[in-house]
Amino acid sequence: MILDVADLSVDYYAGRPARAVAGVSFTHHAGEFLGIVGESGCGKSTLLFGIAQLLSPPAEIAGGTVTFAGKNLVQLSAKELRAVRWRDFSVVMQSAMNALNPVKSIAAQYEDVMRAHGTRDRAEIRERSREVLKLVRIDPVHLKSFPHQLSGGMRQRVMIAMALLFSPELIVMDEPTSALDVVAQRSLMVQIKELQRELGFAVIFVTHDMSLVSNFSDRLAVMYAGKFVELGQTRQVFAEPLHPYTKGLLEAFPSIYGPRVQLEGIPGAPPNLADPPSGCRFHPRCPAVMPQCKDVDPPVVVVEGTEVRCLLYEEKVSGVA
Ligand code: SF4
Repeated sequence: MILDVADLSVDYYAGRPARAVAGVSFTHHAGEFLGIVGESGCGKSTLLFGIAQLLSPPAEIAGGTVTFAGKNLVQLSAKELRAVRWRDFSVVMQSAMNALNPVKSIAAQYEDVMRAHGTRDRAEIRERSREVLKLVRIDPVHLKSFPHQLSGGMRQRVMIAMALLFSPELIVMDEPTSALDVVAQRSLMVQIKELQRELGFAVIFVTHDMSLVSNFSDRLAVMYAGKFVELGQTRQVFAEPLHPYTKGLLEAFPSIYGPRVQLEGIPGAPPNLADPPSGCRFHPRCPAVMPQCKDVDPPVVVVEGTEVRCLLYEEKVSGVA
């Protein structure tokens, strides 16, 4: 195990505090690919920023721990965090155009990162920069390029290469393919998976597109209104989704196999996190809602290896997480 997130909560303080991440717990293992999916506004990017300790006001960690390689990142000072971040785990942001500095060449930006972590030797910096660009199949000649001279797919690959500069154990990725067309998305996902197999790093990958991670993640977490409502092996979650929200998400995108069926959406909208519904946060939208759902916050139960937060499974449980 390389990462242990325990009861992590994040609040936004803008007027009434809004709990965007509400008591999320999970463990992550070396070389594993975890996909985190959910609608926009469900808290998945905030969770990722909370794990990487990149939150800034008005967001604040309200409780819980993030233990990475034996250290609770929540308690580290900014200086201590800078030493761990990028060297031991790195982050790939949603939009490379925003994450990259537009007025510096790729070489200069890689050099900044390596110098910030103590590498001073120019030949070593140049050699490593060439190596990581080759890993993502970009000709090192582009080290001289500026971000605007590259395509969207290349910019994201440049970001991934930057994340690999120190061969970290873990890379957290916040919707890195969202600005790309479907062909470029697929190609980037295949490349991330190949790199992961070759170099052995673990990935936490946040996306709103469940189909995107279906072939790539080992485990899948489904997030709703700041909580994980289902967490299990990806194949199992797709084959036998347990939570009504997961079922709704799966019914909302088309399958290329089987007969044509009318797609069903999920009625309603995600709740206001400053004033979430009582009991189960999904109850106003749930097609299987029961009277007790309005009052009882469902605990996590384990059903055949999958963790689920739903009162439908209370009596069928084989264990409580
Ligand atoms: Fe639906 Fe109730 Fe389960 Fe919530 S606890 S998902 S409202 S059945």
